[in-house]
Amino acid sequence: MSIVNIKNICAVFCGLPGDVESAESLLLRIRDLAEKYPCETGAVILGSNDPTSKRIFALASSFGIDQVWCLETQVDILTLQRHERIDVLAAILPTLQVAHENCLFLMNASGDEEEVAAAVAVRMNAWALGRCEQILVNDENELSVVKSCFGGRMKITRSLSAGIFFAAVRCVEQPRITSAPKTSIVTKHEVSAIEQRPRFFITLLPKSERYPSIDGARILVSGGRGIGSEAGFESLYALAETLGGAVSASLPAVDAGWAPVARQVGQSGKYVRPDIYLAIAMSGTPQHMAGIDPHTQIIAINSDPEAPIFKQAQIGVVADWSQIVPALEAKLHSLEVKSLD
Ligand SMILES: Cc1cc2nc3c(=O)[nH]c(=O)nc-3n(C[C@H](O)[C@H](O)[C@H](O)COP(=O)(O)OP(=O)(O)OC[C@H]3O[C@@H](n4cnc5c(N)ncnc54)[C@H](O)[C@@H]3O)c2cc1C
Repeated sequence: MSIVNIKNICAVFCGLPGDVESAESLLLRIRDLAEKYPCETGAVILGSNDPTSKRIFALASSFGIDQVWCLETQVDILTLQRHERIDVLAAILPTLQVAHENCLFLMNASGDEEEVAAAVAVRMNAWALGRCEQILVNDENELSVVKSCFGGRMKITRSLSAGIFFAAVRCVEQPRITSAPKTSIVTKHEVSAIEQRPRFFITLLPKSERYPSIDGARILVSGGRGIGSEAGFESLYALAETLGGAVSASLPAVDAGWAPVARQVGQSGKYVRPDIYLAIAMSGTPQHMAGIDPHTQIIAINSDPEAPIFKQAQIGVVADWSQIVPALEAKLHSLEVKSLD
């Protein structure tokens, strides 16, 4: 007979602007797990009166999350700095009943939330699992997580026994829930004062970049070492603009100074999940591909027919990029102009 260890699976929303976009899929993921695995479901929402928190609360209620905690603060949630979010969560989460039983806390996998999850886990003496690709329930009714390592070349499965765990998960598919939602219990939890400790202020400066960010872009036009120069990247920006997308780059292109580091995709860059990824003059190394969501459709342009990127691309074009990209941009541009006439 199996021993059920994890008793609670609980989403944590730390009051970041992207919370609403991730909330639906994260909460549905939890409800879906609860249909396969006997556990209580929960949601902790940092904030209660702002539009983001209200929307997440409405979603949690409609999905029948068993218990929802709204952490009320005196300050505007969006103005909290990262270490203050960590302070609040590390102070409140251990006081919740779920943290006295074995619990898996889930947060959305984005740069900020992954850091918050890890820091809160350390402060609670819990397990920080980092970014996890899958959460599995086996025939013995045991819960485990699957993580990617070595730039996506290996997968690790880690079974979850007794303890408190924090995982960051990326929710791309919307699982279906079949059972009728249950009524949620809502607990408002007053966070009286955010601890005033020596503060180091992080000032967010307006971006000097004139081009759209790669974060959240549905189309990415991505350049590799084969682009050869900063001037070459101008062609990629023109194509991206015509397509309504953004420009990203491989590490060598960033190292060469052709694109800023905020545009680097890969193991040591950003994780992106556009609908379409144009991989131009890049070979498709595991370290680069580790930064692209498996559901993304890849169109590769490379002069080498043996380039590994072609094994991963849905569409491949063997060509010199400098012949194809300006011609493609001009063609698309003329179509766009025609459609406006
Ligand atoms: C710990 C670690 C972390 C790393 N993290 C990252 C990361 O986050 N992101 C990342 O990208 N890399 C990362 N790397 C580096 C990675 O190993 C590769 O070196 C890198 O991804 C290769 O980039 P590339 O494809 O642009 O260059 P290359 O592998 O040199 O490929 C260039 C491609 O351009 C093609 N080409 C050349 N000229 C043309 C032309 N005129 N037209 C069309 N095609 C042309 C070539 O055929 C070739 O396939 C990491 C490495 C390590 C060890």
